[in-house]
Amino acid sequence: MNAEVGDDVFGQDPTVNQLEAKMAAMFGHEAALYCPSGTMTNQIAIKAQTQPLDEILCDELSHIYRYELGGYGFHSGVAIHVMRGNRGIINEEMVNQGVKPKADWNPRSRMLIIENSVNMGGGNYYSFDQIQSLVKTARNHGLITHLDGARLFNVLAETGDSTLDYGKQFNSISICLSKGLGAPVGSVLISSAETIDYARRVRKVMGGGMRQAGYLAAAGIYALDNNIKRLKEDHDRARRSAQKLQSVSWVEEVFPVHTNIVIFQVAAPYSAARVADFLSQHNIKCLPISDKLIRWVFHLDVTEEMMDSILELPDQLS
Ligand SMILES: *Cc1c(COP(=O)(O)O)cnc(C)c1O
Repeated sequence: MNAEVGDDVFGQDPTVNQLEAKMAAMFGHEAALYCPSGTMTNQIAIKAQTQPLDEILCDELSHIYRYELGGYGFHSGVAIHVMRGNRGIINEEMVNQGVKPKADWNPRSRMLIIENSVNMGGGNYYSFDQIQSLVKTARNHGLITHLDGARLFNVLAETGDSTLDYGKQFNSISICLSKGLGAPVGSVLISSAETIDYARRVRKVMGGGMRQAGYLAAAGIYALDNNIKRLKEDHDRARRSAQKLQSVSWVEEVFPVHTNIVIFQVAAPYSAARVADFLSQHNIKCLPISDKLIRWVFHLDVTEEMMDSILELPDQLS
């Protein structure tokens, strides 16, 4: 709250400018744009880098396909090719199959979108080799690349890969400060100066130009400086929780845990809603993501004491 602020609609908020410069430098790109949400950074990335009648390609579980209301059609007038990856992980063959031949009746395949980590895959992720190979395939087809890196720092905490290496692979990158990094609000779009120049105008027309946003941006800077290094704690808690879940009668299957997300299937005859209700009686909040699946996400507000509520859960539903 002590941040120096100004009017970011005029580009005059020093703290917002500092956050944008910091993130651009981190990924070796020219510029960045602070936005209210990750949905907005993704949608702006599509709008700023495609034309109507183009097509974007992504996995069927991706946030851009599932949870952004078909915004690619609404804002950008583009088609979508959805690939059926392995828990959200796509491969070169799928891209080769997905790219459409040039014809008047086909949309122009234009942008490959990779989500890393994969939210609905259970926080699983691509190795950097896989990323490089996919991007090479995309570029061979003349596609540009966008990374939905809402949770990229959770990946980097596990792999040790560098932001600069990631920066080279993508035309644009979206990072959420408000997920595991713990800032109250905000996401950042990172790209070339030319793309961000236009992206600023798109942000404005979406109503995302903010005035004294430096208070929020300061929290983002704090998150980058202080909260990246603790992400492994969340991963450790996710793993320990998964072990516990494997031992109770009301869980059928726990997806493999790779980062800070645990997805599990409840055992018959229970529904996810029934189990969520039981969990809330034990002070554990969660999100049923289907009739049978529940998702837990670990973040910096989950303390070791709260872990006890998980580790002491009874074997039988009550
Ligand atoms: C959370 C998330 C987003 C953006 O979400 P907002 O709620 O709009 O900030 C985008 N992609 C992925 C993979 C996410 O997990």
